[in-house]
Amino acid sequence: MSFSIAPQQPRTQSEDATRALEAGLWLEDGNVVLIAEDTPFKVHRNVLCHNSQVFRDKFSQVVQGSENNGALIVALSDAWKDVQYMLSALYYGGKYFSTDKPLSFAVASALLRLGTKYNIVHLRDEVVARLKQCFPPSLEDFNNCYAGPKAYDDDDSLACIPEAIQLQKTDVIGVINLARLCDLPFLLPPAFYICSALDLDDIFEGVQDEDGRLMKLSPEDIYTCIRGREDLIRANLECMEIFAFPENSFGCAAPFICNVREQAFIHKWWTEGGRIDTIVLVSPDWVERRGPLIDSPLCILCRSAVLKYMDAFRQLVWNSLGEYFSVPDWPIIANAE
Ligand SMILES: [Zn+2]
Repeated sequence: MSFSIAPQQPRTQSEDATRALEAGLWLEDGNVVLIAEDTPFKVHRNVLCHNSQVFRDKFSQVVQGSENNGALIVALSDAWKDVQYMLSALYYGGKYFSTDKPLSFAVASALLRLGTKYNIVHLRDEVVARLKQCFPPSLEDFNNCYAGPKAYDDDDSLACIPEAIQLQKTDVIGVINLARLCDLPFLLPPAFYICSALDLDDIFEGVQDEDGRLMKLSPEDIYTCIRGREDLIRANLECMEIFAFPENSFGCAAPFICNVREQAFIHKWWTEGGRIDTIVLVSPDWVERRGPLIDSPLCILCRSAVLKYMDAFRQLVWNSLGEYFSVPDWPIIANAE
């Protein structure tokens, strides 16, 4: 196990100690002092034992002489901020888990990692449920949280379920790492899909989280991401073939006009860089929100045929995400989990 009995008394007067006081995690009647990166937290042994078999096992092996004024002193190998988030969730859970307030990604990440490490099941389950809302297993749910028109906004925030987790687009790098660390492979296909649209610098060099810590993909996942990115660009090109080589819908009253408008659309899409986009899963109605079709729409029959074709293509791509990003057992069949 990665924590040990600390040999020395914590620096209770130090700047590190004030962190616990400010967070309400230096409890005078506490009987255990957890030390993470020199920051001590004085809490209750029974609270930790009640929530975690790992702490329970550890405290049952207490070494005589490791107590100070009746409080057991235990050094953890975790970042102090992560420990603060974990203890805050245990002591002040309502603050973290109210349904009308999203978790920040840094908090969600810490609760999932430490919830897994210390086997605090309810912390892990809460974060997994929220991540699953943001990276769902079905295209329909994914469309509601990401694939809508906001996907085209320049805004860096990820347009997902607002009450679940507050995410920036670059946080998907951290989500992929969490999925690997905590064995949550079903998050990977949608997370890789979003990751593949990031700037290459972010994919290769990583990004900082809100606490200033570096989030970076493993070399294997950088390779996986770039491979999948190629597949998505190819799929995006194939999806647009319907505009490049239009067929007239049966009953179209103005085939020449519809064809000219489709050609104008593909020309604008091509020259503005759409051919190297990876965002093939974005809701097909984006074609009407951008480009020449805003002012010069297709007839109702051609519009319907195009949207139907693109919807079917998107489902095909969604089902292929597992293949693109080397994730077996994808797509997930409903109720199979
Ligand atoms: Zn038409």
